[in-house]
Formats: sequence, C-alpha cells, structure tokens
Amino acid sequence: MTASVEIPVDELVRYRRHFHAHPELSLEEHETLAFIEGELRDCGFDEIRSGVGGTGLLATLRGGKPGPVTLLRADMDALPMQETADVPYRSTRDGAMHACGHDGHMAILLSAARSLARMRAEIPGTLVFCFQPGEEGPAGNKLMIDDGALEHPHVDRCFALHLYSGLDVGTVGIRDHAFFASSDRFELTLTGKGGHGAMPHASVDPIVAASHLVTMLQTIPSREIAPKDPVVVTVGKLESGTTFNVIPDHATMLGTVRAMSDEVRRSIPERMERMVEGLCDAMRLDYAFEYHWGYPPTVNDPAMDDVVRDVAREVVGSENVVDPHDIVMWAEDMSYMMNERPGAYFIVGVRGPERGVEPQHSARYDIDERALEVGFKMMVGIALHG
Ligand SMILES: [Zn+2]
Ligand SMILES: [Zn+2]
Repeated sequence: MTASVEIPVDELVRYRRHFHAHPELSLEEHETLAFIEGELRDCGFDEIRSGVGGTGLLATLRGGKPGPVTLLRADMDALPMQETADVPYRSTRDGAMHACGHDGHMAILLSAARSLARMRAEIPGTLVFCFQPGEEGPAGNKLMIDDGALEHPHVDRCFALHLYSGLDVGTVGIRDHAFFASSDRFELTLTGKGGHGAMPHASVDPIVAASHLVTMLQTIPSREIAPKDPVVVTVGKLESGTTFNVIPDHATMLGTVRAMSDEVRRSIPERMERMVEGLCDAMRLDYAFEYHWGYPPTVNDPAMDDVVRDVAREVVGSENVVDPHDIVMWAEDMSYMMNERPGAYFIVGVRGPERGVEPQHSARYDIDERALEVGFKMMVGIALHG
C-alpha cells in the first residue's frame, strides 16, 4: 500500500529542523502557520482554511475513490523553556523550544499532505489535514472544534500520533480504549487564624491542617478507587507562612488530578471536597476550593486502532508493533476530537543509539530523525487504507 510512495527523507528532515529552529508558544504559532500555508499552497488542495481556532489550519483533499472523511492531525506549539542541546538546528528563540516533538509531528503531516496531494486518484474518501495550535495547555483542539473543524466536510474519523522517547526508533505503540489520562487542576485555600508560634492554642493553624490534607488526599487513589482504575492526585504547590515563629492565617495548595476513566475522573472533586470540608470542620478552618476541568482522557476506538494496526504491521513489521502499549499518564487535547468522532492515537518511537534518549519536555530533547520516516509512512498508510 505504501510501497509505491516515495519517502521524502530530505524534506522531512528539512521541515523538522526548520520548525525546531523556529519554535512558537501556544496560540502564537503565526510564523509556523504562514510557513505551513506556504508549503501547501499550489499543491492542489480543494480547500485551505487558515486561522481556524486562532492559528490552526485545515487543508482538504478529495480523493478519487469513495470512502470516509478522515482527519489527520499534528500539533504546532513549542514549550516555554530554554534549549540546552548543542545541535545545528537548535532553537533560535530565547525561552521557546520544541521539546515535546511537535516539530516532528508537523514535518510528518506536512510531507504526507504534499505527497498525498500528488496521488489523489488513489485516495479513498476525503482527507482533512489538521494543523492544531495550543496543545500544551490551552486546548487548541477544542478551539478548532468550536471553529467548525469537524464540519465542512463532516469528519467521520480522526487519527494522530506522538513521537515518543520511551520507544526505540522503528517501533509503533498502540493501545485500545484509554491510552492517555485526563488532566484537571485544583486550587485550595485554607483559612485559619494566625498568631504567635508559641501559643498555638490561641490560633487555628492552617499549616497543620494542610499537612493532614496532603496525606488524606492520597487515600482517594489508594482507598476509594479500585486499583484497576489508575488515578493520580498530586499536590504540586503548597504555600504558607513567612517565618519560624508565626502561625499564618492561610495555606494555599495547587495540584493536578489524572485519571484514565472519565467516570472515575468526574467523581474526584466531590471526594476531595468531602475530605476538605470534613477536615476543616474538625479543625475549625474555612476553605475555598476550586476545581478546573482540563483535557479528558484520550480514548481510542478499537475499530480505528485496527486501521493503525494494519498499517503499522506493514510499516515496521508485526514484531515492532508494541500492542498493547502501557497506558501513559500524559494528557492530550486530541481527546476532544476523539470524544466527537471515532479515532485512534498512537505513538512512534524516537529513541536511537545516539539521539532520542532524553524524555519529552527535557531541555535536551531531540529525536533519531529516522522516526520521521516511520511517522510519514504511518500517516500515508492510514490515508490510503480506506
Ligand atoms: Zn508536551
Ligand atoms: Zn506533545
């Protein structure tokens, strides 16, 4: 199926290095958008919609055979961090770096789009190439849906990949059902009554209460949720007090909650607030608790996974398909589209003998660029699969 497609190795590497050297932060991907639009112009797409959801782009290509409308997605944003790797294509922008691999995702999808535009007659159905801004936090995927990305044409199914440093180059990871976790955030303020550190009986100490609460919250995953349902409750920030001999008025806490099941996920804030309320009642404090819903779990449709499986076996050979891959407690905003349409998300190994060993979001993140060829073949294969 993909044997007849020439692999544009030089173009893939050139694109990836261009994007890597010119990173832009979430929802600020203006130059990235202009570059992609420029490379797709005059390739024969039926429609190019630029500026979808802010700085996103959709390019539509109607194939010569009957078939579904398939959306293929790449995310576009970089992270606010300083690259420390000394490579010729290192970031040219202070405080911005493609440390998650979205540079590679764009290179793969851009090359695939250009190649597929030259073989329209062989394409079953219609392809929508989706370049999505703002994955690292602001839910650019949802912004694109709200801006009509799944209509005109009405998308039937969707696919996306992530380059992954936990797998060797030349391998592909697949998993039916939930693959990545949800990511939600909470903020809590405990209010007691400040006073002298030597006279705790005349105060209401928010630090002691907060300390109890940090450990109490850990009993939600360990004592309230079935072990088969992975949940993480992390207090990432805890702030209180100014000096050694003063009991402060307040303690504040920030944290994240991850879950693989949407049902379990929805039950967490109530469980947390019950503990907060009970503890504050017992220890005479007031509280303010805010819970912010973030990205839902990324849930694969097994029928769509079968498409990915077929293609992966052909591209890397059955022995190099990791299936089922372990769950990954990352979160991914592609989950919004995958809640609207059946879809499959898979991962492509980037770990080579020299490069690709640093984890995602590391200041030294880099990839074995042979992974770009695997990603390209996967996307083209899925597009031609029907
Ligand atoms: Zn990331
Ligand atoms: Zn990412």
